[in-house]
Amino acid sequence: MSSDKFLANVKSSWREVQEQVKEQDDAIRKFVDSDYELKRRGAVIVRDYCDNDTPASNPHIVRNDFENLLRDLESGVIRGVVFLHSDRLARLVYDAARVCRIYEMNPEYIGRSVEGGVDLSTVEGRAMFMMQATMGNVEIGNIKRRTSRTNRRIANKGAMHGAPRPFGWNDDRRTLHPEESAFLLKAIRSVPGGYRVGTFRRDLMEFGYEPMKTKRSGDGPRQIQHTAAEAILTNPRNAGFRMYAPQDERRRSGRLWLPDFIVTNSEGLPVMGDWERVCTPEDYWACVNEIKRRKDVKRKEAKGEPHDTRVKYFLSGIARCGKCLSPMWSNPYTPGTSSYEKWGFRYACLVSQGGCGGVTRVGPPCDDLVESAFLLGTRQGLGEAVEKAAEDIDDTVFDARLAEIAEEMEDVRQRRKDKRISMGQSLDAIEELERERDDLLAQRGKLALQKKRKKLLSPDALAEWHDLTMDEKRARLTQSIRSVVIHPMGRGKRFDPEFIEIVWHEESDD
Ligand SMILES: [Zn+2]
Repeated sequence: MSSDKFLANVKSSWREVQEQVKEQDDAIRKFVDSDYELKRRGAVIVRDYCDNDTPASNPHIVRNDFENLLRDLESGVIRGVVFLHSDRLARLVYDAARVCRIYEMNPEYIGRSVEGGVDLSTVEGRAMFMMQATMGNVEIGNIKRRTSRTNRRIANKGAMHGAPRPFGWNDDRRTLHPEESAFLLKAIRSVPGGYRVGTFRRDLMEFGYEPMKTKRSGDGPRQIQHTAAEAILTNPRNAGFRMYAPQDERRRSGRLWLPDFIVTNSEGLPVMGDWERVCTPEDYWACVNEIKRRKDVKRKEAKGEPHDTRVKYFLSGIARCGKCLSPMWSNPYTPGTSSYEKWGFRYACLVSQGGCGGVTRVGPPCDDLVESAFLLGTRQGLGEAVEKAAEDIDDTVFDARLAEIAEEMEDVRQRRKDKRISMGQSLDAIEELERERDDLLAQRGKLALQKKRKKLLSPDALAEWHDLTMDEKRARLTQSIRSVVIHPMGRGKRFDPEFIEIVWHEESDD
């Protein structure tokens, strides 16, 4: 019987369709030869009907052989039909109803399907047939999707007109281009470590990659667009994933986020292509997620929002700049630098957030220090005796000497100004005073920290600390700690805990 199922392939491969029809034909003949009931009734195939190049689901199209079949059945030229499956005979409800009407009027006719067990001579069989036609009808609603799927297949086969060879593969679009794929793999794996799309773009040009000619590009050496470089890194086919970006969306924006167009199966898993892949899915997602993260940060910065750090970073917004007391926010180190590799981020007083921009401090050690101080303080606060002991700590003992030092330093400066001492002498004096001052400040800081730790009472804060989310940790932290002041310290100096001042809530009562 007729078939429209393979219509999509007709244009590209006529021979394939012929073979499919022959297969169906063979199946039907075999069925007729072997079926007991058909044999008993002496059924013989006398005529073939085939609407091979006509869809059964388009109401505007008349299927000539289908009409011939109905006419021949009605007139009794033939007294039955054997078909492969209901949906090969009819896909529209009213076509199916026309078939059923004939069988209601001619219950002795043979009407059998090879697959699906339909017998049109019975009421049940006709009901089943109608249902299968209805299901076919439901499918018509999805024709657009099926067309997309066909396009998708064609796109992935690389047969699409004018589709450029993807970077990393040979012209067959299946086997890897040895140099390009090695270059691409290295880049993909470097992204999570800080390798930037912009750097990749430059490296691509150095590598000798020439983008497709476009209307805009004109003559002369063609520039690689940032989005084109990004598209090469984020191309789903790198990991073997099939991708399909519908035409209108392609047209609407030149900036598609390609991972959004990975073709997935009914379980939501990516459909894999049959080409050699450049990298593993793990490599691919690590690269893609990092690029996505950077884009998000950029977008938020452009909108003037602090990055999405308040939940991710322990002290964002809690830490304050020791110079201007503005909140400090997490801020990534420049990707590619050793600080980025080692620490990832710092806390910074940001001019863009209204700060002075004068203080930054490496992030993770601040987190660790404040976390342990908080936990220790809380733990110690659990004992009343400890709290009492806090009262005995005098963190002002050095204040008098510190005031003196400040006066002495001013005195040295004045004498230098009056040219009563040499530059060398004044530097000696100043430096010595500075050393003493720093030492006293450190001791005072320690005492203050001890005192405040001991003052703290917050028994519930410890219970399941390590299971808490960052939000929960921050909520508990801010119950006890009002702020963490990060004092300026010379550039390039190693992290020094004494320049981190933890301000406990109790202090506001002082
Ligand atoms: Zn500041």
